[in-house]
Amino acid sequence: RAARFSHSSYELADSKRSEQFYNRKIIIDELPQAIENNLFELRYQPQYQLHDGRLIGFEALSRWQHSQQGHVSPILFIEVAEELGMHFEFDLMVVGNVCRQINYWIQLGLDPVRVSVNISFKTLEMSTFVHRVCQILRELKCPTKFLEFEITETSDAKNLETLSENIQALVDLGIRIAIDDFGTGYSSLSLIRGYYKSIDTLKLDRSLIEDITGNQTAKRFAQHIVDLGKVLDLTILAEGVETAEQKHLLNEMGCQYAQGYFFDRPLDIVATEKLLRAQR
Ligand code: C2E
Ligand code: MG
Ligand code: MG
Ligand code: MG
Repeated sequence: RAARFSHSSYELADSKRSEQFYNRKIIIDELPQAIENNLFELRYQPQYQLHDGRLIGFEALSRWQHSQQGHVSPILFIEVAEELGMHFEFDLMVVGNVCRQINYWIQLGLDPVRVSVNISFKTLEMSTFVHRVCQILRELKCPTKFLEFEITETSDAKNLETLSENIQALVDLGIRIAIDDFGTGYSSLSLIRGYYKSIDTLKLDRSLIEDITGNQTAKRFAQHIVDLGKVLDLTILAEGVETAEQKHLLNEMGCQYAQGYFFDRPLDIVATEKLLRAQR
């Protein structure tokens, strides 16, 4: 099968390792049912503004706790969903679940800040995607100002015209767009060049920032990307920040936002709600 160029080498290594442990066939067989029955849970990883530590949002990350297989990596089940052509229904299910969660937090008197949803590039290329998103938003009456969609470019982009129409339509709805895993994509630079006016945020992949405190070349490389973001008026968010040194250096370099284990792991609903209450 085709490798996904969109993931960092770490994610690919993880995915390969998981394949040895999980029976791929079981996942292929059971994924359709799991999607139909909405058997996934979401974790919310907080994102912070570096210079003052303010909470600026969350990334929603899907979890599938399989009854026999245990935890199945989303890298694996998203890949299978794409192979089975079920990524479209899956991504819409997640959008619906996130909208319900946002509404619930609002009902509790909490400020959901902003929630970022991963959308498969293949989903974003589908001509009916925006229509379905609108249906969900209308049905659930979810305010779009709390929503962001994260996209990772894949090697096999086909439907570029629909993609660009969809991105513009989502922006018109008030949904923000972030480019995920920037620096590892197949040709993310051309994506940025074509759409930077519609894009809000560049998410620097973990592999780009992991050596910045020990390696001058890595640091200079990351600095140039942060500067590119400045020139294009994009917000830069560093992914996978694991140490205080990385955090300080990224702040000095002019990177605005970050997420990673140094701040928080992806949190379950109870922990997320606790964090939101502490913000009040
Ligand atoms: P991603 O969107 O790039 O998400 C970041 C991944 O890095 C997450 O892995 C997160 O748990 C992990 N991470 C966060 N902070 C750190 C850190 O400090 N160090 C390290 N080593 N890792 C960190 P996760 O949750 O396993 O998700 C993997 C990928 O699966 C995501 O990469 C995304 O591409 C995909 N994915 C997850 N949930 C969904 C979903 O609901 N829909 C779609 N379409 N894709 C999803
Ligand atoms: Mg993401
Ligand atoms: Mg990704
Ligand atoms: Mg990423």
